[in-house]
Amino acid sequence: MITKLINRIKRKWTKFLLQPIRVFCFHHVSETYHPLTMWECDWTQTELLKRNIQNLKEQGYTFISLSDAQKKLKHDWFRHEKYAVLTADDGFKSLLNILPWLKERNIPITLFVNPKYIMEDRIGENMQNRLDQSKTKVSSDEIYLKMNDIESMHSPLITFAYHGYEHMDEWKIDERVFTQNLTQCIETMQRDFPNVIPFYAHTYGHAKREYDVILYKQGLTPVYVSGNCNYKDALHIDRELISNEILLKKSL
Ligand SMILES: [Zn+2]
Repeated sequence: MITKLINRIKRKWTKFLLQPIRVFCFHHVSETYHPLTMWECDWTQTELLKRNIQNLKEQGYTFISLSDAQKKLKHDWFRHEKYAVLTADDGFKSLLNILPWLKERNIPITLFVNPKYIMEDRIGENMQNRLDQSKTKVSSDEIYLKMNDIESMHSPLITFAYHGYEHMDEWKIDERVFTQNLTQCIETMQRDFPNVIPFYAHTYGHAKREYDVILYKQGLTPVYVSGNCNYKDALHIDRELISNEILLKKSL
């Protein structure tokens, strides 16, 4: 009873005194949609995304980094300014269509990546299956950013974070495989990637509480995509997925 009351007061207090921090997630950004290498919910048209980022600015949002957002979420008692954070998952090559534009505008972004597809000549299993079925050959470097792309876009505004060494579905793997995939990801990225920050984005938004314990032990903050996370945890960061479909329906 008392806890319920405290929580209600807390929620009202939060709404009244703290302006929002909105954390967004997108995947592919390109002029046109390519049905073989993209999923509809993963695609955002370049101009539409730019317009929406501009819109957020006009609505008074300031873009900050994920690390700064985390500090604010943890420590702010009062927040008068509205903030927004950009993140992109899977490290697709098409991000090159938006990264220079963001850099010019001083907008930070965090990329959650799988080193396997960036460093090796490999393609994620689901996409590879789809390509095989249609008997189409697409090379890994047409789909994913490669180390030379990462080196050439070197900027403190672009940070990298973990998404597993390869893109595995956490609901289908056991703890041993999860840990192995995470450890290999951390070791590789700490050795070879610039600006790595301690966050882990759950693949497909599929999260398991037991795996979050492993992440916390490694000093990582779990990051979700809203709608797929069915529990609340004070330490996680929830993201709004933005795709073309969503952006056409509403202006952010
Ligand atoms: Zn992903």
